[in-house]
Amino acid sequence: MDKSAILRSMTKDVDYEQIGSPIFRVFTDRDLHRIEPLRRLSDEQLFEMQVVASVLPFRVNEYVINELIDWRRVPQDPIFQMTFPHKAMLQDEMYDRMASLHRKGADRQEIKSLAGALRTKLNPHPAGQLALNVPINADGNRLQGIQHKYRETVLFFPSQGQTCHSYCSFCFRWAQFIGDKELRMASAEASVLHKYLKGHEEVTDLLVTGGDPMVMKTKYLARYLEPLLKPEFEHIQTIRIGTKALSFWPQRFVTDEDSQELMALMRRLVSGGKHVAIMAHYNHWKELETDIARIAIKRVRETGAQIRSQGPLLRNINDDPDVWAKMWNTQVQLGIVPYYMFIERDTGARNYFDVPLYQAWQICRDAKKRVSGLGRTARGPGMSSDPGKIEIQGVSRIRGEKVFVLHFIQGRDPDWVHRPFFAKFDEKATWLHQLEPAFGQDRFFFESGFQSMIESRRAITDE
Ligand SMILES: *Cc1c(COP(=O)(O)O)cnc(C)c1O
Ligand code: SF4
Repeated sequence: MDKSAILRSMTKDVDYEQIGSPIFRVFTDRDLHRIEPLRRLSDEQLFEMQVVASVLPFRVNEYVINELIDWRRVPQDPIFQMTFPHKAMLQDEMYDRMASLHRKGADRQEIKSLAGALRTKLNPHPAGQLALNVPINADGNRLQGIQHKYRETVLFFPSQGQTCHSYCSFCFRWAQFIGDKELRMASAEASVLHKYLKGHEEVTDLLVTGGDPMVMKTKYLARYLEPLLKPEFEHIQTIRIGTKALSFWPQRFVTDEDSQELMALMRRLVSGGKHVAIMAHYNHWKELETDIARIAIKRVRETGAQIRSQGPLLRNINDDPDVWAKMWNTQVQLGIVPYYMFIERDTGARNYFDVPLYQAWQICRDAKKRVSGLGRTARGPGMSSDPGKIEIQGVSRIRGEKVFVLHFIQGRDPDWVHRPFFAKFDEKATWLHQLEPAFGQDRFFFESGFQSMIESRRAITDE
């Protein structure tokens, strides 16, 4: 798309005939050698990437390569860090084993089987995602593709949306991308979803997630969402769609061949009385700077849908309050509501990206100090853990003991929400399981309740 076409489109409807649709072209671990700008890297660096990309998911598209990454600043560039594999993402022992297979020219099958073995050591399903959250119907069967952890909100994983326009090197959904059927949390059936929602009037929010549901054609998305306008789904007030397409492929909303239909679908949902919220995954203000990214934001907002932003705090990518302050400011300017700052989960290349809880809180605080109230709406930093979403509210000293002040933003038991609780301060802790209750107590207040939930679930399944 040339500059003048973009400018025209900012003021009136885009002339699609004239602009054309850029083709979505994607590269995986088999095509590293075909990524033109990578030629500036040494053979050694390329080899390292190849090794890591055979264990962790790798997929990057031309838009990310050509417009988001600043190749003069590689390897430090945050978007490069976000999408390309790095040696340090694997522990030395894992790296060495995979590297030696590549060196001796092993075949695809051998590489795949070692990759499978190594991945099982990378905690592919953190925070009880498979076991506790998947509902069980009256016949005792698990409802594939649905998770229901917090009373008001149902998560739906449409089977066509279990991939993304590019993969994030830190992703906790990575197990879904590597084709392991057992681990896939996907639904083939709209009817399963609709039946479940019909039977659960306490649910107000549907959150369609993936992967990235925006990789789906609009007609599939419509099949899942349009029926929710019927009277029997009146209790579903909000339809949220979790996506990183506004960053990785904003063309989805502007020039893809069914982008107009997508906008029309969102408009129909809005005018049918639903609150439509695009839960946009952003990690860096650089994702908001291209013309096409801004046009996409504008077009989505014109449908009456809201955009809320969320994303994890990551070492090597955005562990800097200035990056968050600039990102939140830019989002507010563009009409996006900052919603969430997450702590990176304990999975995959965790060691490469993790930021201790203490530092995460400081970064969040320092970023919030630098923006106006409208930029301070993001909750967090928060851990999406087994018992619930826990926010680190701060560090304090109470009766001589240095403590973390915490609370649940969401809990498996709604009664846990917004009660302050305290953990011993630990400068290095990166996740809930490393924290201990403060003041000499032996359990956190929610632990016995959580334990009995696990046990009653065990009584009906054999998880
Ligand atoms: C975060 C999350 C939600 C949504 O929580 P909100 O506080 O309503 O944004 C729903 N289900 C699961 C499993 C989640 O992790
Ligand atoms: S866009 Fe989301 S689901 Fe897709 S790779 Fe990135 S973090 Fe994972």
